Amino acid sequence: MIPYGRQIISEDDIAAVEAVLRADFLTQGPVLPRFEQAVAGRVGARHAVAVNSATSALHIACLALDLGPGDLLWTSPITFVASANCGRYCGSEVDFVDIDPETFNICAQALEAKLDAAASAGRLPKVIVAVHMCGQSPDMARIATLAHAHGVRLIEDASHSIGADYLGAPVGNCAYSDITVFSFHPVKIITTAEGGMALTNDPELAVRMERLRSHGITRDPALMTQAPDGPWYYQQLDLGWNYRMTEMQAALGLSQMDQLDRFIARRRAVADAYDQLLADLPLRCPGRMERSESSWHLYIIRLDDPTLHRATFEALRADGIGVNLHYIPVHLQPYYRDLGFAPGDFPASEFYYARAISIPLHAGLTDDEQARVVAALSDALTT
Ligand SMILES: *Cc1c(COP(=O)(O)O)cnc(C)c1O
Repeated sequence: MIPYGRQIISEDDIAAVEAVLRADFLTQGPVLPRFEQAVAGRVGARHAVAVNSATSALHIACLALDLGPGDLLWTSPITFVASANCGRYCGSEVDFVDIDPETFNICAQALEAKLDAAASAGRLPKVIVAVHMCGQSPDMARIATLAHAHGVRLIEDASHSIGADYLGAPVGNCAYSDITVFSFHPVKIITTAEGGMALTNDPELAVRMERLRSHGITRDPALMTQAPDGPWYYQQLDLGWNYRMTEMQAALGLSQMDQLDRFIARRRAVADAYDQLLADLPLRCPGRMERSESSWHLYIIRLDDPTLHRATFEALRADGIGVNLHYIPVHLQPYYRDLGFAPGDFPASEFYYARAISIPLHAGLTDDEQARVVAALSDALTT
């Protein structure tokens, strides 16, 4: 089976993890801040907080922005459930804004209309999670203008898009958001097995997220709310979690950062080749936004004829092509239906879901494998 995505682990990566296993610290040691600085430096953000998953990063990002019971979080339905669940972890309500049919990202026009209606109704969200589907940034400049006009805070769920650019600058620089989150799950652009990171330019948000990652505890006397009893003293200031990243994970991530440019270059080459090779088939290739360079986490085709969707998917799987579907609209999950959402609520997302297939794209995909994918797809759609 040619997988839709997978990691590449080099001998250098293995040596970096092994070195940590022979050293003094297995968690919260010296490699973690080096990994944080490498990512922050690369994307141009001032602060970075590494955690055990992007899901955890989204959770502490929401908490740092004071999201809580009675508040509202908005995201788009075509995403992994974690982009919405982070609001539920904080006791908030979640609602969705439909997607742009070409980029699969939150539709700025729909957002504008929904924000105006929410302002009139006195029910504005506190936080919007803008997802970077497939590695392509949403229209963050416009989204930020809309959000700021209503005093709404912004998190970028850039789980797919480390290494991407938007308006000529790296995704993750938080130029248009309070916090940006990356994922290092094995199918993502670089990996730490499990892992994530929250980036911000706001030192207060960074300090809060650092504390929330480790039980809400501080050892900094300057932050303590009562005088320390002695040199052993620490204080718990908030209710935090154990969301720490291990040193082995940080060492793997730091080593993977050396290969980021190579990974992105190969992913872009594969995506460009798909655009050419699939041009004559009865399907649509992913839309590309101007002045935006995707990291190409996913390559998602949409079939012209939705009645062929299931059979095409099955034929490709039977042919050894590890296709997938990203994503089932979150509002159609049983958990969210129980909260009141129903089919028909977000038509562009549901139209997309009836046609979308993720075909293999990763930095290790060979030209031969890509040719096999194209041949299988062509067979499935023309016979
Ligand atoms: C993978 C992913 C996440 C969760 O990442 P983990 O590191 O697995 O917790 C969140 N949002 C999106 C859009 C993702 O693709």
